[in-house]
Amino acid sequence: MGINTDLLHAGVVKEEKGATLPPIYQNTAFEQQCAADLEGIFENKRPGYCYTRVGNPTITAFENRITKVEKGIASIACSSGMAAITNAILNIVRSGDEIVSSASLYGGSYDLFRDLASFGITTKYVKNNDWEAIEQAFTDKTRLVFAETIGNPSLDVTDIEKLSEIAHKHRVPLIMDNTTATTVLIRTIDYGADIVVNSSSKYINGSSNSISGILTDSGKFQWDFEKYPGLKEFKKFGPLCYTAKLRNGLFRNMGTCIAPMVAYQNIIGLETMGLRMERECSNAFKLAQWIAKNHPEAHVNYPGLPSSPWHEIAKKELSGGYGAILTLRLGTKENAFRFIDELKLAYRLSNIGDTKTLVIHPSSTISLHSSKEERENAGVYDDLIRVSVGIEDIEDIIADFDNAFSISTSK
Ligand SMILES: *Cc1c(COP(=O)(O)O)cnc(C)c1O
Repeated sequence: MGINTDLLHAGVVKEEKGATLPPIYQNTAFEQQCAADLEGIFENKRPGYCYTRVGNPTITAFENRITKVEKGIASIACSSGMAAITNAILNIVRSGDEIVSSASLYGGSYDLFRDLASFGITTKYVKNNDWEAIEQAFTDKTRLVFAETIGNPSLDVTDIEKLSEIAHKHRVPLIMDNTTATTVLIRTIDYGADIVVNSSSKYINGSSNSISGILTDSGKFQWDFEKYPGLKEFKKFGPLCYTAKLRNGLFRNMGTCIAPMVAYQNIIGLETMGLRMERECSNAFKLAQWIAKNHPEAHVNYPGLPSSPWHEIAKKELSGGYGAILTLRLGTKENAFRFIDELKLAYRLSNIGDTKTLVIHPSSTISLHSSKEERENAGVYDDLIRVSVGIEDIEDIIADFDNAFSISTSK
């Protein structure tokens, strides 16, 4: 099936009363017929539900749909994208271990990795797609490689096939944050990713009505139980051992579950994600082309333009669009602020993946807590603005930008 069909139908279990959307199980706990049944569920010997922090049928419906569209074998939905990243990483690292990560990261991930350092888990940052530097960053303590498919906001595109080859050569898994690209543009597991994380607050939900995240296990990584001793106990789960450890351990113990209502809202979002991405990517491409032609001084950065250093990788990997985010550089921070303030249609806020066009100045907001060096490595400059393009009529988006350019540059 094609991706749009899958987004609507994959993993759907027909509901007994014929409802076309999964019922919202808005409850905390589930009663069983007898004490032994409850024991069986706690022992993982019986299927079933006991407590929503651990599992809930509406949440399962969301997880199953994502598992199918991401081509994995299991997913765990979490309270936020950051919770999904935290769970994905902490499941396989211990104090003293190291992470090799692309330096082109979402600001929140930088902040998380800094927090992890105080628990003895350190991160070596490398320039994305710099294979020599990546090779050199590995030590015998490296336990995972982390990167974003399309870096937010530098918009570099990771060559996932190559990166996964290097990770696998060193016998560590590749965790890909696929939030900005989405499964509509790329199934990262096909390119060798072992664990995929998505902030479902963004394109999956699509309308910015709730915060959540989800991680998906490819089931393909060959875990070395000497290297990952915490997984040994879950060896009997075979390819599901990573997910089994997380679900029976840190995920339930940290209490980072998604709310059933949010899982339901995300399922509704998934149904239109293909259509939304089609329009948002097409609008972003047209806006990028218009800016490149009419305002070359704004240095528009968009993976769909041949001027992007990542255009060839994007062409090879992404299908159906080059993402819906672009950035501009306007010379100074003052120019950037003035431009943002002159936009009338675009919302000034910290988010991506909404149906509406959004704009932000990253260095004073999402990357505020990063050092100057971290910001530059992440492609964040004082004069940079990031635009997350929505589904409005493209003529209106262009008119809004045209107006902002003419007012802000005439002052
Ligand atoms: C927003 C975002 C996150 C964090 O997701 P939340 O749902 O806000 O916690 C992680 N990675 C990327 C690339 C993001 O854009």
